[in-house]
Amino acid sequence: MHLRGVVLPDADVRDLWVRDGLVSFEPVPGAETLCRTGWIVPGLVDAHCHVGIRYGGGDEDHAGAIAQAETERDAGALLLRDAGSPIDTRFIDDHHDLPKIIRAGRHIARPRRYIRELGIELDDERDLPEIVAEQARFGDGWVKIVGDWIDRSVGDLRPLWSDAILKEAIDAAHANGARVTAHVFGEDALPGLIDAGIDCLEHGTGLTDETIEMMVEHGTALVPTLVNIDTFPEIADSAGKFPTYAAHMRDLHRRVKQTVANAHEAGVPIFAGTDAGGSIRHGRIAEEIAALGAAGLSAHDALGAASWNARSWLGRPSIEAGAPADFVVYQEDPRVNPEILATPYAVILRGRLFQRHGPITGHR
Ligand SMILES: [Zn+2]
Repeated sequence: MHLRGVVLPDADVRDLWVRDGLVSFEPVPGAETLCRTGWIVPGLVDAHCHVGIRYGGGDEDHAGAIAQAETERDAGALLLRDAGSPIDTRFIDDHHDLPKIIRAGRHIARPRRYIRELGIELDDERDLPEIVAEQARFGDGWVKIVGDWIDRSVGDLRPLWSDAILKEAIDAAHANGARVTAHVFGEDALPGLIDAGIDCLEHGTGLTDETIEMMVEHGTALVPTLVNIDTFPEIADSAGKFPTYAAHMRDLHRRVKQTVANAHEAGVPIFAGTDAGGSIRHGRIAEEIAALGAAGLSAHDALGAASWNARSWLGRPSIEAGAPADFVVYQEDPRVNPEILATPYAVILRGRLFQRHGPITGHR
């Protein structure tokens, strides 16, 4: 296969070929030309999704998990960072027509302090370092813990863990070669998580100027999952007898754009994740990119957060000679017209063409 187009992020017009599923910049005799104009973007990344959690909740079966991964692929998301899954999705590694999943094992929480039956629930927080080490060995370099959740005895978001045990647990993950990320909505869990050396925060709606500064000092990344934060008002509506919690969720939602803008401006690395699985449908990475743009990232940075920057953060190549031919082709510059992200001209995974919308119509 041969393609000619504007290759991002450098935006140079290049010819590239696919040979044996890999990118080549040397001509391949007899290659069929797929396009002569177009914008070629390194395979998109959904840096927070859950292949294996059924839409509406519960464990997904193998056929359902495959369908979820196919939906991501057809939307151009060719690398997925799983942020916790109740089922073992390692069988997907044998499906070369599905996106690569970087797994985090199962969520680690405490009893009554997360979505029921989704994660491993520790009665005694002192078991956290051991369980983190176990999940580190089970996953693909990430461990997911639940940092805060509603405490019904208090009626508001509260941290799940003491600062000392977090430090021990994150050290244990690092000793086992894994990075750690945490679900965190509110303000109070953040200093303990960041100080303990956590590598990434999911959602992070409670970030303040102080905790943003701490993230910058520690080099902590942020995956805001803005598509999910949009559901906060519904969560608040169904909070029933917890009015303080409901008001808190509404407030976090009200200021999320500013929170993300502040973190970005301060220099926190931000990556795109939809939180698909459970309450969010798969295949919405284009919407997350648009939301990051609306929260103050430039169109280039918002796309980079779901492509080349996320790939490099996860240790995966972009469009390089010898790298797997994982890229998405658009008819127009997706930084100028982000709406085009919803209808890729071509999705190419490991050198195979999957999704294709319409002819190239745009002008360079
Ligand atoms: Zn999630």
